[in-house]
Amino acid sequence: ASTLSQHRVRFTPDLDTLHTRENLELLGELTAALLTNQLALHYQPKINLADGRITGVEALMRWNHPERGFIPPGKFIPRAEQSTLIDRLTAWALDTALAQLVAWRRDGLELTVAVNVSTHNLMQPNFVDSVVNLLKKHDLPGQHLELEVTEGAFMMDLDHSIDKLKRLADHGIQLSIDDFGTGYSSLRYLNDLPVSIIKIDQSFIRTLSPTGPTAHIVNASVTLAHQLGKKVVAEGVEDADVYRYLRDIECDMAQGYFMQRPASADDLSRWYRSEQG
Ligand code: C2E
Ligand code: CA
Ligand code: CA
Ligand code: CA
Repeated sequence: ASTLSQHRVRFTPDLDTLHTRENLELLGELTAALLTNQLALHYQPKINLADGRITGVEALMRWNHPERGFIPPGKFIPRAEQSTLIDRLTAWALDTALAQLVAWRRDGLELTVAVNVSTHNLMQPNFVDSVVNLLKKHDLPGQHLELEVTEGAFMMDLDHSIDKLKRLADHGIQLSIDDFGTGYSSLRYLNDLPVSIIKIDQSFIRTLSPTGPTAHIVNASVTLAHQLGKKVVAEGVEDADVYRYLRDIECDMAQGYFMQRPASADDLSRWYRSEQG
């Protein structure tokens, strides 16, 4: 089979054409990947800072390409988001994550699972129904599912988005704002959105030091979120100092390489058992 690099050699002249060809080929391969089990979900725990226990996991997509090896989501999700393929990817991720959750709960692992949702997904007229149908299929209450949505997703059509998020929340589904702090209108909308969790973007957390400039932003975000009745997750916790600092300022949850990198479902189960006893 042909690869992108072979095409790069064969079609050099026109950059736009190249990008188009590359995109189409990637989307074609991604469609095939969906049908041939090349996609997988890895799971990263969210830790409750007050007691160190795992509260849930975030599902993160991986593509094990037969020739090019492992391709990270940053390389293919943004391209899939330019097409309707993202709807099929999200449907697959939801179905797979919920099936995994059923298996975990049957084995006594008390987890919830968070799935990332793209702007394009939220704009689909049947999005809420499709999520509710998947919960029914797996016989799970909405409370076990969290959907992570970036601020950009609300900006397109705020009233419509609020209406959709409310319908999801009515089913008990938890909603979180992902990458909080990187959009530009977060404060204005925070109160109107039926979200229960705010995930502070890693760019604020990775460089966090008690005396550094981002500490003020993180402190203020935690305070604001709590005053609005929302919980806060800090993403990108990479060392013990940051972990302790976040615990001291009463940030609710943390996620990051310091505790656990995203891992396969089996590795996650083993980790859960060793940590949670
Ligand atoms: P995100 O939703 O903000 O996910 C967090 C990313 O940060 C993940 O990268 C995770 O592996 C990484 N991460 C977690 N802890 C740390 C840490 O301590 N340090 C550092 N440096 N990184 C950390 P990943 O898995 O490569 O995913 C990248 C992005 O791709 C995600 O960002 C999300 O926007 C998107 N994505 C991943 N899976 C899906 C999916 O199933 N659907 C959609 N729509 N988007 C997805
Ligand atoms: Ca996320
Ligand atoms: Ca994020
Ligand atoms: Ca992100």
